[in-house]
Amino acid sequence: MLFWNILIPVAPALFVVGTGLWRNVCPMASTVLLPRHLGLSKRKKLSITQLGKLNLVAVLALYAIVPLRHAVFNNNGHATALLIISLTVIGLITGFFYEWKSAWCSGLCPVHPVEKLYGSNVWGSLPNAHCDQCRNCVIPCPDSTPNIHPEAATKTIYHKISGLLITGGLPGFIWGWFHVPDELMLSTSANFFGTYALPLTGFAITICVYVFLSMLAPVAYERKIISLFAAAAVSCYYWYRIPSLLGFGKFGTDGMLVNLSNTLPAWSITAITLACTAFFFYWLVVRKPNNKSWVIRPQFEK
Ligand code: SF4
Repeated sequence: MLFWNILIPVAPALFVVGTGLWRNVCPMASTVLLPRHLGLSKRKKLSITQLGKLNLVAVLALYAIVPLRHAVFNNNGHATALLIISLTVIGLITGFFYEWKSAWCSGLCPVHPVEKLYGSNVWGSLPNAHCDQCRNCVIPCPDSTPNIHPEAATKTIYHKISGLLITGGLPGFIWGWFHVPDELMLSTSANFFGTYALPLTGFAITICVYVFLSMLAPVAYERKIISLFAAAAVSCYYWYRIPSLLGFGKFGTDGMLVNLSNTLPAWSITAITLACTAFFFYWLVVRKPNNKSWVIRPQFEK
């Protein structure tokens, strides 16, 4: 309940407005960076190609794990705990070898592609709570590059593919995901793999639209199209998530935090979701890029 119905529903809006706050306080990041803070990390640097490969694995992991919420995690606290602990252990291992946020927070973390998509025009830059000096361990550093977005790093084919998959695919994937009910009794493998069908169908449709628009539109509009898809993805998320949190969901108690269906009129939910959509399109598409990074880059190591 705490993880899936409170923390995760807040996260996308936080990424849109202030990704840097999350980058500073994320409990998994803080754990993964402990070896570096304690001077136990070997502080290795990854090559551009290695970073690109990690970014691609992160996007694929996101699309692989999220449908499993319906199959397993949404209704199983032990499984969710095991997932979080497993990811933290993997991140911690990378933290013992690689410099600052390069391998996990800006590499393998499955949440990072979403941060980059939503956090392209944040409210302001916060001090960096982790890196004391910058060693240029990620280029471009997502934390320190103003108005970073998923297509900002196109140095390798891996960067390009991961940027395409997250920007083009996420809106449709989210739409599909919200049309799948939670499975309480997973009896067959068909049920299990069935949780992927609609999200992947939505993914395929919007990625085709994205490729088509990108080919048609002049290069000057590339940034606008990315912002449009980011706004579509986060708006779609709250379009379905707010009703389900408040007891107006399509699938009964799936994803419900508090049941207000007998208290609030249905039109108020429509009004809230419309207001959220208007806000995200204004914030990400209409508002001018404000040249702010998630956090302020510390001074370079001498
Ligand atoms: S601020 Fe510098 S040291 Fe920290 S993650 Fe970014 S590139 Fe690496």
